[in-house]
Amino acid sequence: MQTRFTTSQLQDPDIATSEAILRKCVHCGFCTATCPTYDLLGDELDSPRGRIYQIQNMLEDGSAPTPETVKHVDRCLSCLSCVTTCPSGVDYMHLIDHARAHIEQTYERPWPDRILRDLLSFIMTRPKIFRVVSRAVTILSPLARFAPGRLKGMMGIVPRLTPVRQTDRPGVFPAQGPRRLRVAILAGCVQPAISPEINAAAIALLNRHGVEVVVAEGGGCCGALPHHLGKTARSHALAKAAITAWIREIDGAGLDAIVVTTSGCGTTLKDYGFIFRNDPEWADRAARVAALSRDITELIADVGLRPSGMSGSLAVTYHSACSLQHGQRIKSLPRALLEQAGFTVREPTNSHLCCGSAGTYNLLQPEIASQLGDRKVKTLEAIPSDVIAAGNLGCIRQIATRTRKPVVHTVELLNWATGGERPMSLGTPPVPLPGSPEFPGAVS
Ligand code: SF4
Ligand code: SF4
Repeated sequence: MQTRFTTSQLQDPDIATSEAILRKCVHCGFCTATCPTYDLLGDELDSPRGRIYQIQNMLEDGSAPTPETVKHVDRCLSCLSCVTTCPSGVDYMHLIDHARAHIEQTYERPWPDRILRDLLSFIMTRPKIFRVVSRAVTILSPLARFAPGRLKGMMGIVPRLTPVRQTDRPGVFPAQGPRRLRVAILAGCVQPAISPEINAAAIALLNRHGVEVVVAEGGGCCGALPHHLGKTARSHALAKAAITAWIREIDGAGLDAIVVTTSGCGTTLKDYGFIFRNDPEWADRAARVAALSRDITELIADVGLRPSGMSGSLAVTYHSACSLQHGQRIKSLPRALLEQAGFTVREPTNSHLCCGSAGTYNLLQPEIASQLGDRKVKTLEAIPSDVIAAGNLGCIRQIATRTRKPVVHTVELLNWATGGERPMSLGTPPVPLPGSPEFPGAVS
């Protein structure tokens, strides 16, 4: 693709990077076939190719974009399905990240949008405040039907709180038996408030496999949520706090990896080197952290899963989170681990398509997110299985609000299959009947 940036514009390293990305696009349109918003809305402007044109025009112009451009950029899920499909290797992720930051800096949104985005960035990245807000929403939930449109939808999405667990607090969780590795785990921001069982399962699983786990003081939110809202200052401040916490551990007792159980965050952590590439003070530290970042399934594969056969042979429908399959290119590994653990694993049709969660997307674009969520759940429910598993909290919430089937994190099943706690969402197992093979003391 030809570009028309001026020499002085190209002095800006962000513009220079985006220009190189734009030049790679040959307009072939292959990416449109796998884009969820194009699939749903059928508008070229809501396709990757259409967005690439609009972003090019916006960046070349350099000033505030039109409301029309903002609308189509905002509708992008950042699911990165187009990146997987593109035969020319167009780095759409960094292009859309740049576009969002440019919009945030130059465009004045209508005030309700501005307030909503500021509130999301403020509340969701502060676990204590998020807990207070979630508690208030829980108390007010009987009044949700009287709330105006968007607020009503949001009240339905905000999940109920669960008690704080020990594994949410900074500390060291020692390996069982001889220590093979020492890793840090990303504590996260929203996840410890609503699904602390996920990191608890990951830590128990790792400890059982000889891995010491540290929850580093100061390493809470990774900055992914404000990053995807284009709020660079807030996202960099959070990322720097996390980097500082982990570098202290790396240079202290040492770390073999930084483990992430929310694949949306994992994609951002692995990108820290790029995000801080032009910052001489942080580039080196950010690159060191990025190089150590691993999804939980990658680390478990490295240490070797040791199933105990305790979980029976449940059938699992595996939902592949976009941030895992497209963002981190981890597609078959979670499925292979679940099978190794003794589960029967099935995948739905169109498994490459996003469920519509996408960070704060389901709060900001509720109509599109809801349609994508309904479509996804239809394909997941079309498969006979006992449970749905995914490796990203956002997907788990988006799916769980639309199905009666239990939805769990992959790591909860792996933990259970190796002698850990049964996932809470599976409920209590049925009591075996006298005479059945499962009845204690039965002879098979
Ligand atoms: S598939 Fe790649 S090269 Fe083709 S239009 Fe899409 S982004 Fe451009
Ligand atoms: S990131 Fe997803 S929604 Fe956005 S253009 Fe690419 S495929 Fe479409």
